[in-house]
Amino acid sequence: MSRYFSEKYASLVPYVPGEQPKKMRYIKLNTNESPFPPSPLAVELAAKAAENFQLYSDPECRELVGAASELFSVGKDEILFTNGSDEILNFAFMAFCDGNHPAVFPDITYGFYPVFADLNGVPYEAIPLGEDFSIHVEDYVGIHKTIFIANPNAPTGLTISLRDIERIVASNPDNVVVIDEAYVDFGGESAVPLIHKYDNLLVTQTFSKSRSMAGARLGFGIGCKELIADLNAIKYSTNPYNINSATMAAGVGALKDTAYFQKNCAAIAETRAWTTDQLRRLGFRVIDSKANFIFAAAPNYSGQALYLDLKAKGILVRHFETPRLKDFNRITIGSREQMEALVAAIKELLQEQ
Ligand code: PMP
Repeated sequence: MSRYFSEKYASLVPYVPGEQPKKMRYIKLNTNESPFPPSPLAVELAAKAAENFQLYSDPECRELVGAASELFSVGKDEILFTNGSDEILNFAFMAFCDGNHPAVFPDITYGFYPVFADLNGVPYEAIPLGEDFSIHVEDYVGIHKTIFIANPNAPTGLTISLRDIERIVASNPDNVVVIDEAYVDFGGESAVPLIHKYDNLLVTQTFSKSRSMAGARLGFGIGCKELIADLNAIKYSTNPYNINSATMAAGVGALKDTAYFQKNCAAIAETRAWTTDQLRRLGFRVIDSKANFIFAAAPNYSGQALYLDLKAKGILVRHFETPRLKDFNRITIGSREQMEALVAAIKELLQEQ
């Protein structure tokens, strides 16, 4: 740290992203990326857009907003695109949390929430998940704080029902409830339709997972037009050109190519079921996941040892060395071939033990 670093950030503990090895020596199952390339239409439109890089990108993202508002049946003023969904989550902490509106989220969830809270000087509470990693809905009913819930949750892949989300949203009318649907396309139920009923609901989604565009950085939020206007105030006070024009064009292509999107999501769900079954047969505890990853604990094998042994065999998974998570690894669902290689490697390791 330099002696110039602002005191207000001195104790910040930044988020640690999963490893991104330079050489693709690994079967990479550690950061929940898609094993499939982006839609060919997305790539084609991005390349075309790059020819006009001398111009600033459209700060209103009009084409993208038009395509998305049709797809999600929401108004053009009810949607805001951001540089990955991380950016809109940060905007939400900036816009809807303060000393009078502290944040609350589960103790086991997306690791960026406490970082965003600290970055923005927002007080927060982390509510423990149940023994089985489930979210106790009652804990959030009438809590009168700004609520962040990932649904499906990470790193568990567990969901809560739309009915439960509605109870939470309806019982906290003076606070915003943010439902982070980064993984919803792999089997979850989206809360987007509820935005027409509740003015305190913000739903966030991303192109990083189900639309194979993690490297393009594109996310968005859907909520009533007043919430979106607040978030736009933050956007236009930080970076009006937060989406570059190639990403914007790729986003339009990805939204138009519904068949490709649906095929890939279905393939992930099918491979997730296959992998879950295979690992359970080997004695693993595998949490029922609706996301593009599974959370799995090996029999008589510490999470860290399995992570390291798999890495030595060229397979990267994500390990969290915290008390309640350390027996587990979060394993991204890759292609069927990648998951067959994973299962084969695990079989070998279990035999070598
Ligand atoms: N929410 C959750 C629960 C996530 O796991 C991630 C991915 N790390 C994100 C949001 C952010 O993803 P992105 O910024 O790539 O849209």
